[in-house]
Amino acid sequence: MSEATTLSPPPISKPAPKVGFVSLGCPKALTDSELILTQLSAEGYQTSKTFQGADLVIVNTCGFIDDAVKESLDTIGEALAENGRVIVTGCLGAKTGEGGGNLVRQMHPKVLAVTGPHATQEVMDAVHLNLPKPHDPFIDLVPNSFGSAGIKLTPRHYAYLKISEGCNHRCTFCIIPSMRGDLVSRPIGDVLKEAHALFAGGVKELLVISQDTSAYGVDVKYRTGFWDGKPVKTRMLELVQTLGEIAEPYGAWVRLHYVYPYPSVDEIVPLMATGKVLPYLDVPLQHSHPDVLKRMKRPASGERNLERIQQWRAACPELVIRSTFIAGFPGETEEEFSHLLDFMREARIDRAGCFAYSAVDGAVANDIPGMLPMELREERRARFMAVAEEVSASMLQGRVGSTMQILVDSAPGMGKKGGVGRSYADAPEIDGVVRLLPPEKISKTLKVGEFTKARIVGAQGHDLVAQPF
Ligand code: SF4
Repeated sequence: MSEATTLSPPPISKPAPKVGFVSLGCPKALTDSELILTQLSAEGYQTSKTFQGADLVIVNTCGFIDDAVKESLDTIGEALAENGRVIVTGCLGAKTGEGGGNLVRQMHPKVLAVTGPHATQEVMDAVHLNLPKPHDPFIDLVPNSFGSAGIKLTPRHYAYLKISEGCNHRCTFCIIPSMRGDLVSRPIGDVLKEAHALFAGGVKELLVISQDTSAYGVDVKYRTGFWDGKPVKTRMLELVQTLGEIAEPYGAWVRLHYVYPYPSVDEIVPLMATGKVLPYLDVPLQHSHPDVLKRMKRPASGERNLERIQQWRAACPELVIRSTFIAGFPGETEEEFSHLLDFMREARIDRAGCFAYSAVDGAVANDIPGMLPMELREERRARFMAVAEEVSASMLQGRVGSTMQILVDSAPGMGKKGGVGRSYADAPEIDGVVRLLPPEKISKTLKVGEFTKARIVGAQGHDLVAQPF
């Protein structure tokens, strides 16, 4: 047979280059990971959660507290040992080590590239340099195969929506602004477009995140953008109002995180009372005593937080408040700490977390006089948590006998043996859950990502137990 007539086998298509991806850290880091993964997939890279078989590995790190730094450095070490070709991104990537050099490079000189957080383009540049982009005429014609919402790392029925990056505050215990820079708000049109795509894609709960949600739009002087052909200001009130309107036809929830107790929040609470957005506020208060708040340089430290919370509750009795606190901040006196315990009892914060103050490398608070011994900080944390748990338990007990709408997170076998879900009072990952008993009616099923009504029959620790119907 002549060469010309030989039937050659079809060309073996080269497998797409594979990028291993590890995402550590908070929801803000998770949304950075989602942007990078979306871009990788749009360019035809394969992605995986493992190091084996990957052509290179990206580690998205966290650098907030010492434990997170250790976990991130260990993961980079593991990726280097198992794969050898590692790109580092995220908060730890922006951290300086001893003598002023880059900490990650000092600890792991063999990494291919290091970027700070929120650096999709820089990460992609490093990927292109070390693992050339596959050419696929089909994929190359598709600008973004996942729509404007991109790839999500959360289960399909809830998603985080990041509205801004960075922070204009300079809380003395925090190094985020030095890692993530000043506030940069995303254009409101883009944010609303992403929200709409998420709801259209099946998301039933949208979690709005940022470093400071109340400050949305300050950097762009509340510039007017456009959504659906209509002008809309880049400001929290307009954002929340419009998100509520977009969510409504999908019967979906909108939940707000990282809201500071500024007077502007007073305008949001009526939207919660009318059901436009969930009556749930994640307000990181950190302390109650005005002097401690001043030493912390907290946003809205001059506000009368207790009165404000009482006014919010009067305007919206359903309101659930989650907050975080720090016990044993440098210089905290017993009297200041007692003020915090009293505040906790009076404000009746539904969900509270508390850290014993722990020095973060590079934070201004390390130089505040009066560092307390670790045992005292821990002891105060435990005392705070005892009060917080009492408050939370009595708030949960108050729900027994009521009927709530529950978003189902897990329901093996269509829920025939029960399942797990959450009410408006529970944000995923950080709050409690609602344990669902097997439905009494034989025809009743539970499906992940769907809502069910349930009667609350008991409380267990941070969780509720409910009978779906
Ligand atoms: S508000 Fe304070 S704690 Fe929050 S990111 Fe900004 S500086 Fe850090």
